Amino acid sequence: MTGFRALPSVDQFLLSPMGRTLIDGHGRTAVTAGLRVRLDAARAAIRDGADGDAEAARLPHLLAADLAAAAQSDLRPMLNLTGTVLHTNLGRAILADEAIAAASAAMAAPLALEFDLGSGGRGQRDDHLRGLLCELSGAEDATVVNNNAAAVLIALNTFGQGRQAIVSRGELIEIGGAFRMPDIMARAGAHLVEVGTTNRTHPRDYQDAITPDTGLILKVHTSNYRIEGFTAEVPAPHLAQIAGKAGVVLLNDLGAGSLVDLAAWGLRREPTVAEAVAEGADLVTFSGDKLLGGPQAGFIVGRRDLIAQINRNPLKRAVRLDKIRIAALEATLRLYRDPDRLAERLPTLRYLSRPQADIAAQAAQLAPQVAALLPGYTVTTTDCASQIGSGALPTDTIPSAGLRITGAGGDAPDRLAARLRTLPRPVIGHIRDGALILDLRCLDRDEDLLGALSA
Ligand SMILES: *Cc1c(COP(=O)(O)O)cnc(C)c1O
Repeated sequence: MTGFRALPSVDQFLLSPMGRTLIDGHGRTAVTAGLRVRLDAARAAIRDGADGDAEAARLPHLLAADLAAAAQSDLRPMLNLTGTVLHTNLGRAILADEAIAAASAAMAAPLALEFDLGSGGRGQRDDHLRGLLCELSGAEDATVVNNNAAAVLIALNTFGQGRQAIVSRGELIEIGGAFRMPDIMARAGAHLVEVGTTNRTHPRDYQDAITPDTGLILKVHTSNYRIEGFTAEVPAPHLAQIAGKAGVVLLNDLGAGSLVDLAAWGLRREPTVAEAVAEGADLVTFSGDKLLGGPQAGFIVGRRDLIAQINRNPLKRAVRLDKIRIAALEATLRLYRDPDRLAERLPTLRYLSRPQADIAAQAAQLAPQVAALLPGYTVTTTDCASQIGSGALPTDTIPSAGLRITGAGGDAPDRLAARLRTLPRPVIGHIRDGALILDLRCLDRDEDLLGALSA
């Protein structure tokens, strides 16, 4: 029993110098909860024959380590060296400095979110973005919601509830498990009418399906797969004619939806939002945090009368944006007014357009320095292939370069990857052919990686 007596009581420990230091650092609630866990463990160990004095001596250190570990957020900044630029699981787009500054300012002070500075009367939160979105897309009007999934949901609900929505069988997409077009349709209250086949859909398939109950035709950009071979789809301008003649809404869900032609930066062309609008879609939906490079958001641009109907849908209130993201979006969209400097200022575009030679030079520079920080591992440079991610240009890769790290034993790359995930600034790569690959496309500064690995 003397064993147990060596352990301090909760109160004794909290009043001790060590207890006070820990409370200063982590707060009383956290220290008390952590202490109880460690005391229970120590008592169990003593019951199993451990020495009471030894348990009491190591308790403060164990508790301090527990508290330090718990104080580290899993949301701490890390280095995305996976080679996937817009990694959904890693939070997609990195915002421009201008957007970060605007978001911080919006968090710290009141702002005219729904207040008209001119008249002193009531304003609308979407007004801050509407003008920019119309200018950049050529659309008549625009509205903004929580994400593109919400944009599609509210548009389908507004024009398809209790009515039919026509979609090609080649475009019934699933994006990351929970977002499946048929399920979204059902939740929106729209009756899905599938037309055509997986690989071929013709104008007459749409025409034959239109009835007085048809609310809309949905065109979906098949953003995360590509159907190749014997294929046919109805081009958007033709679909716009068919919808227009029948008096039904044509909704084009672009997904990644770039505001600029990526070919100017050496990437493959994705349909731009302005093109989709010009092709005659009544409404176009796209994401804020994919190719656009902003925070999570969903945009609907198009005909003024239809946007007004969407804004009157009670769902709009449930999926509206907060001030922080509106501020960040406004700052992001403003950057598009200066396309010549866009790649400098918008991290997504900067990463996507980095030439392989540039990345290879960085890899050559870094390899010996990284090797010095990882004793027991072999670090060489390698060519690799980056991906855009988030379903944009799914079958395309961008030539890139990085570090290839191997070690003794078949599980060396997995063990190293696990170690790098637990760093104060985690480093995430990918494993290929028995090596850990760190694709350097998204590494802004060499010091970031060297600093992370030194910790
Ligand atoms: C990504 C995507 C969505 C969902 O957009 P989120 O912004 O992730 O909600 C919807 N449709 C298409 C075609 C997409 O690519």
